[in-house]
This record gives sequence, structure tokens and C-alpha cells, in this order.
Amino acid sequence: MILYRAGWILPISRPPIRGGFVGTNAGRIVSVSADAPDVSSLSERIETIDLGNVAILPGLVNAHTHLELSWMRNRIPPSDSMPVWASKLMALRREQGSDPPQPIAEAIRESRAAGTALVGDVTNTLAAHDLLSSSRLSGAVFHELLGFNSPSPRQVVEAAQAALSRLAPNPAWRRSIVPHAPFSVSPALFEAIRNAAGDLPVSVHLGESREEIEFLEGGTGAWRELLGRIGAWNEQWRPPGCGPVEYLDRLGLVNDRLLAVHGTQLQASGLARLAAARATVVGCPRSNRWTGAGTPPVERFYESGVRVAIGTDSLASVEDLNVFSELAQMRLLAPHLPASRLLESATIAGAEALGFAHEFGTIDTGKRAELIAVRVPPAVDDVEEYLVSGLQPDVIEWLDTE
Ligand SMILES: [Zn+2]
Repeated sequence: MILYRAGWILPISRPPIRGGFVGTNAGRIVSVSADAPDVSSLSERIETIDLGNVAILPGLVNAHTHLELSWMRNRIPPSDSMPVWASKLMALRREQGSDPPQPIAEAIRESRAAGTALVGDVTNTLAAHDLLSSSRLSGAVFHELLGFNSPSPRQVVEAAQAALSRLAPNPAWRRSIVPHAPFSVSPALFEAIRNAAGDLPVSVHLGESREEIEFLEGGTGAWRELLGRIGAWNEQWRPPGCGPVEYLDRLGLVNDRLLAVHGTQLQASGLARLAAARATVVGCPRSNRWTGAGTPPVERFYESGVRVAIGTDSLASVEDLNVFSELAQMRLLAPHLPASRLLESATIAGAEALGFAHEFGTIDTGKRAELIAVRVPPAVDDVEEYLVSGLQPDVIEWLDTE
């Protein structure tokens, strides 16, 4: 058993402990306390390690990224129109033809160095799968499908299921098939995906851009034009004349397994509907700024009572995959929110949304000891505020708990 002593413990499931202890054994958390636990009855050897003025917290959760796009780092400049930005991404991806492994491996290393334990990784090509599977990360593989006019959505889903079933099983990873977005997935494909999902989490880009709202309201605008340009328009499709959450609800996808990613354009009514269904909104504010999607109403997210998780999105639309950087941007957009709420979003809320709350997200006995120690300057009094101020990997270390 290893007993870590630290200036701060942030269990997340309860308030920070100033000067406390975390005991770990064989990769599991065995104790959390303000005072040194009584270990006199234990026969095994106990090693006590004093870490000094650090904050121990659970490894963070990046609930939305696309690791396979890591080679696009700094390749598509920021835009003020998301459809324009997405067209550039599609053109670049077509030109490249495949997602090279080296940048994926580098992005996984960087994520880990920035304190991330768990990820929700969206993939079209499964290019990151083997690298993730052999890494220290755990999480959800969201095999994402697009198709606004596919003639046989069921076959598309069956082919994706077959591809997933060929992957070597790994208990650290859950795999499911998910839809891309309302403007790129036909109602029939949404339905086929819903039927295949069972009780696994389903992630979808939702309410991301103004153009998506326009498209669903009246079937017009830049997404409609783009679908026409790439030969993906569906003559049968009729605009539902409602907002994105209601549209998804009509398709039977709004439930407690849903991760509604971005939500940049969501109004109070849509957020209330998500909250009532116990769904999750995944905020990715740095990516929203980069792609021209807009500014997410972060305070409105929390006011609605919906579960809020945090994602970085991909290196195509963000400088790094550091969840602490994303937290700092969330803080800028929600200056009045208690920092503890943001920290919950970066830990337990993401773990719940991805279906891993029994193993990750808090420092509680029995959970995986995937713990980080963040160096805290001596003058810091409000440790939670410090942790959402934008930390870099040089102050983060993983605890050795094997
Ligand atoms: Zn995304």
C-alpha cells in the first residue's frame, strides 16, 4: 500500500481536504482522509510519500475529441463561418486520404501529460483505435457515421458494427456507433443507429452552429448548400421546423445516454428538455471559437440543471488537448459559477456521461487510482479557482499507484 500525503485532496465527491491522505493499493483507491488512517492492523508494508504542496485529483475526462484528426493541427485556420471551416476540413481530409498514426500517438502522449485519464473519442476511420487500446487511457470509442441520403441505412450500421466486432476486446474501452449531426445524418440513419445503440452512450454534435438552426427551421442556408455541392442532398427530407433538441427527441435519441456535444446555439427550452431527460451537454468552447460556431452559453448550461461535461474537440480546431486549458475558457465564459462545478464537469460528469463513473471521476475508495498531483504555489488559498486557471503539463504529475 502507498499512502500519499498532500497539501490538498480534491475528492470531487466532497469538498477539498486541506492537508490529507490518499491510500492506494494495486491500482485502486483504498482510503481518503484528512488524518493519517490507522494502518496498525494491516500486515502489509506501507510506504508513505509526502508530496508537499500539491493537489491530488482524479485524472480528468475529455468527453469529446477526435484523435484521428491530430495530423490537422494548425492546418485549418480559424473562421467566422462553421460551414466554410468544415468545407476546408473535408477538402483537406480528401486530399490526405488517411489519418497518419504518428500525430495520434503524439496527441495521446500529450493528453496523458496534461492529466487526462478518460476520453470520448469520435472516429470515422478507427485509425486511433489500436494506439488508444495500448495506451494508459480508457474511454468510449464512438464510431461515427454520416449519411444524409444513404439508400440503405441499416446496411451502413451493420457494416460499422462488423468493423467494431473485428477489433480485439479491451475492457478499458466501450465501443458504440453514433451519428455525426442533424445536417449530415438522415432520419432513417438516426433511427438505425438508435436501434443499434442499446444502452450504450450516444454522442452527437448538436446545436453547434447558427447555420444548423437555420437548416432545421427552414431547410435553407449554408449546410443545405454544402449538401447540394457534395451530392448528399436528400430530396425526401423536410425541415422539421423546430430546434435541434426537439428534432433529436422526435427521433427518440434524447435520453440519459445522450452526449449533446457543443450546444453552442441551444436555448433555455432545449437545455431544459435535455436536463429533464438526464442527458449531458459537452462544452468545447475553444473549438467553437476556432470554427466560427459561436460562444456557448456556459452559464445557461449550468442554470438549466443539465449535466455538463467538457471536451477539447480535435487538434483541427484547438491548440492542444489539455482539458485544463478548456476549463480556463469555461471559467472565462462563466465567471460567476463556483469553480467546483467546473471541476465536476471535467471529472465525474464526463465519467458518468461516458459510462465509467464506477471507475473514474472521483477519489473514492474502490475506484481506479488514476490520480494526478498538481503543484500548487504556496500563496494559493482557493485551490479550486487555481485549478481552473489554465494549467500546463509542467505542474502535473501522475501518481504511481500500481
Ligand atoms: Zn467534434
